[in-house]
Amino acid sequence: MNENTNGRTVALVTGANKGIGYEIAAGLGALGWQVGVGARDGQRRDDAVRTLRARGVDAFGVPLDVTDDESAKAAAELLAERFGRLDVLVNNAAVAGGWEQQPSTVDLATVRLVLETNVLGVIRVTNAVLPLLRRSAAPRIVNMSSGVGSFALQSDTGDYAGLPASAAYVPSKTFLNSVTVQYAKELSDTGILVNAACPGHCGTDLNNHSGPRTPAQGAVVAVQLATLPADGPTGQFFNEDGPLPW
Ligand code: NAP
Repeated sequence: MNENTNGRTVALVTGANKGIGYEIAAGLGALGWQVGVGARDGQRRDDAVRTLRARGVDAFGVPLDVTDDESAKAAAELLAERFGRLDVLVNNAAVAGGWEQQPSTVDLATVRLVLETNVLGVIRVTNAVLPLLRRSAAPRIVNMSSGVGSFALQSDTGDYAGLPASAAYVPSKTFLNSVTVQYAKELSDTGILVNAACPGHCGTDLNNHSGPRTPAQGAVVAVQLATLPADGPTGQFFNEDGPLPW
């Protein structure tokens, strides 16, 4: 039985049990949306749903490991059964893979894990829920990327030129940026707007809480891109202040 008869927007945020994803769920929930908390661990998922609900968010748990085909399929089935559609997908889940990623010495298992999660995970989950997004009146996909993935910003003169060299996390976000453009290209006549977001350097488990910004500040750009009007941009890259270079 489809319970979504009241026309409220339905969103799924992957990796929403903590960090920026949790705050994206809170931000979308504050708009009165129904928010699926995608998380791979049952206890962490239940805890996040409980605390979000205590904040007034209409949150529900969605078991989801983005590296697992069956898990992505089951998540789509849960949404199909409960709502019959999905309006907004925020692909937020990612791993850093540790910070020993110098290209000349990197462990290939690290590269595989990071790409499997940060890139293939996005394609896997997006494709699983795409039929549901096609049924929405205002479908949006937000891919949580990072400015470090920008060629312009990672090169000699860019903002991130001083970061340690990385053959895993940084290229995973470059790959994700390209995937974002390619989805936007394929879906250009469907009304599905697909954009990449950079939350800025936020203190989370991903970076051992080294970032100066809060996860809630990092969530702002995702909420902006989730709520774009029908004539909004697609296939572009933003932080909360505007467009970023590729
Ligand atoms: P975080 O605190 O480490 O949270 C990452 C989330 O992803 C967690 O919920 C984690 O779940 C989940 N996750 C990881 N692998 C998963 C999998 N296989 N299946 C499902 N969920 C999985 O990181 P964050 O800083 O909030 O990062 C959120 C997004 O922002 C990421 O895409 C990141 O690359 C991007 N970003 C962050 C920063 C920053 O400064 N923090 C800057 C630029 C971009 P578990 O709890 O189960 O591990």
